[in-house]
Amino acid sequence: MLLDDGLGIPEMLIPWDAHASFCATVKRIVRVETEAEVNIQRAQKQFVSHFDLSLQKLLLGTFTRLASAHTIQRKTDVGDPYLISAFDIWLRGVDLALTTFAKRPDVIGFKSVVCYRTGLSVSLYEDRENMLQKFHELWTNYCRDPSKKIRLQHKSLNDHLVRMTLALCETHKKPLQFHCGMGDRDITLTTASPKHLQPLIEAYPESDIILLHSSYPYTQEAGYLTAMYSNVFMDFGEVRHLCLLNALFSCLTTHRYSHTFRERVRRRYFDKSLNSVPQTK
Ligand SMILES: [Zn+2]
Repeated sequence: MLLDDGLGIPEMLIPWDAHASFCATVKRIVRVETEAEVNIQRAQKQFVSHFDLSLQKLLLGTFTRLASAHTIQRKTDVGDPYLISAFDIWLRGVDLALTTFAKRPDVIGFKSVVCYRTGLSVSLYEDRENMLQKFHELWTNYCRDPSKKIRLQHKSLNDHLVRMTLALCETHKKPLQFHCGMGDRDITLTTASPKHLQPLIEAYPESDIILLHSSYPYTQEAGYLTAMYSNVFMDFGEVRHLCLLNALFSCLTTHRYSHTFRERVRRRYFDKSLNSVPQTK
């Protein structure tokens, strides 16, 4: 059993490793956006304690405003040393967390929901200044109200996170799953096709990429990429109307569909699809 437990609602989930009592093997799939969001909270704690310490040492009253998260709300620009410091603490924290997961034998791979957040047109490079600007938005929003749910939806940061994960996947030989295609209303269809991932697929030929849900309704694009690139794989999970072996492949969440195919048609479609899979995959 492979479990993605990064739904952002840990209080409502049974811990992934508790499922070991139900089956022989349980492995975890780490959702990278969730880890990046958790690290915003960790970075804030580190940031504040760092400046608390500086404050005690310096004993300079003018720096008291730096000692609490509240003061981080002040207007900063991308050259602000305190913003840069917070950004670096966050980025290092995310890198360390993902590297630790990549090394763990009970973590089978990673998952990205960048499709839900800023779309699959992930850039190959990001200017640090752009990242700092987006981080400024994320950071000040969080510091203004830490009780509010953090949502990493800041394109340059989301894209960087995906690239960072792909590099780790290459080093540690673990795959990265991408949610592609269908989903909830927060999916923007124009950037939900896996065709947008093509530059990334070519830039990371040694990283295995799994396109989830057959990328429905962009199944043809997913099929093409899977056939063309040895590092791309297609997953049938959650696409119930296409998949005969629902029970085997379905994910933990469900979606309603406005249409379904009859069993006979599904069986024919599914058999045909599986027969076309190259022997090497
Ligand atoms: Zn998904």
